[in-house]
Amino acid sequence: MQDIRIGHGYDVHRLEEGRRLVLGGVSIPFERGLLGHSDADVLIHALIDALLGALALGDIGAHFPDTDGRYAGIDSRKLLRQAVALVHGKGWSVGNVDVTVCAEAPRLSPYIGQMRRHLADDFGVSLDAVSVKATTEEGLGVTGQGAGIAATAVALLVRVGE
Ligand code: MG
Repeated sequence: MQDIRIGHGYDVHRLEEGRRLVLGGVSIPFERGLLGHSDADVLIHALIDALLGALALGDIGAHFPDTDGRYAGIDSRKLLRQAVALVHGKGWSVGNVDVTVCAEAPRLSPYIGQMRRHLADDFGVSLDAVSVKATTEEGLGVTGQGAGIAATAVALLVRVGE
């Protein structure tokens, strides 16, 4: 079976005061935001790693190093679109993706629809090929105690026909 590939991504960012909270390209009102070199959109970072992983192309840090000033404060959707372009350039398209965000707060359900629309646009797929889910970790660990937000993602790639 050479016509489909699967990739997995995982990321965590620390929550800090004085930062914007951006998830799936949506700015979410909250008293803290995620710390990072870019806009620290942990959901999109997990997705980028899933895309890269599907083609064994390394990880987000290799493609977009946090030592590179070009990526300081950058909208992670720009990085996602670059990763999608890389996938397309290698002859693959995105079949579907599924993401889970782990956050104790804020409540993310009001923003999920907008996140999915952003991602569907960036992937060039229909909305029903993009799943975003949110969960809590029941007060346990890094996300449960509010120290950070984590995301996991899987992406299925399909080889583009001749
Ligand atoms: Mg990250």
